[in-house]
Amino acid sequence: MESSLKCLVNDDSRYQESFKLFLERSSEHKCMQDFIHNLLPDVLASIGDGKSHLNVIGVGSGAGEIDLEMLSELHLKHPEVTVDNEVVEPSAQQLHNYRVLVSRKPDLDYIKFNWNKMTSGEFEENWKVKKMTKKADFIHMIQMLYYVKDPEATINFFHSLLNKNGKLLIILVSGESGWRRLWQTYRSQLSNTELSQYVTTQDVKAFLESKGVSYQNYELPSQMDITECFTEGDEKGELLLDFLTEVLNFSKTAPPDLKAGVLELLRHPDCSVESNGRIIFNNNLGAIVIDPLKTGC
Ligand code: SAH
Repeated sequence: MESSLKCLVNDDSRYQESFKLFLERSSEHKCMQDFIHNLLPDVLASIGDGKSHLNVIGVGSGAGEIDLEMLSELHLKHPEVTVDNEVVEPSAQQLHNYRVLVSRKPDLDYIKFNWNKMTSGEFEENWKVKKMTKKADFIHMIQMLYYVKDPEATINFFHSLLNKNGKLLIILVSGESGWRRLWQTYRSQLSNTELSQYVTTQDVKAFLESKGVSYQNYELPSQMDITECFTEGDEKGELLLDFLTEVLNFSKTAPPDLKAGVLELLRHPDCSVESNGRIIFNNNLGAIVIDPLKTGC
């Protein structure tokens, strides 16, 4: 059955508001930061091949907090190197926030930022029209593949841009997360738009394996406090429910049986645990680090 519910990402201001609240209620960025500071440095050390200049592409960078942490780890591993950093981000607001963040941070002189206010699809189109031959040493797509029409085609394109020794980092919700359980059960009733892909690292791994591409996988434990979702009429709870379902004004627009079913599943042990009276949703992420395609020998 096709749903008539509206997709949250079509309302940028409510999407950004719900994303901000999600970051406050979850350990999303904390778990990424642990990965960036503990595991990513070894990956970053292996790129570049001793070059004095590195090309980085950030796809769906948001407000740039996570990007700047990765760039600072990159700088620690390659202190003498200059960096060309393409930022691909369609939200004017997020791009603005990123620029403000950069303007407030000292010591970023080694990075040249190129701001691309566009989707990954538009970036790909531009790249092809301009017949660009530049290759990238590090490309990252963090929590953004849900928003592209064809995640596999997007991975293929950015993968094709990798330099020898380059790495493509993808972070998405893990196949072990509550997100996957929620999507498995309700995706057909929640969304009628192809712009929301309900993709997890499990899907990406299956796709890479089918193509024989080599990669490393890391599980990143993360939690999200969704207790407020269970208080009828709670504004923050409603905003979080929008984020969870990717539906705009889910509480007010979903049919009652769908709403009841989603709420029941969200607190089910498949998705959440109860701890000290709080309901804690499994927000585990997966990080996949992809090696370049082998060129013929
Ligand atoms: N990487 C950041 C932001 C993730 S939110 C972080 O982890 O904190 C997803 C981001 O992808 C949003 O900033 C959104 O504006 C952006 N986005 C949505 N559709 C996109 C597309 N087609 N191409 C590139 N970015 C997109």
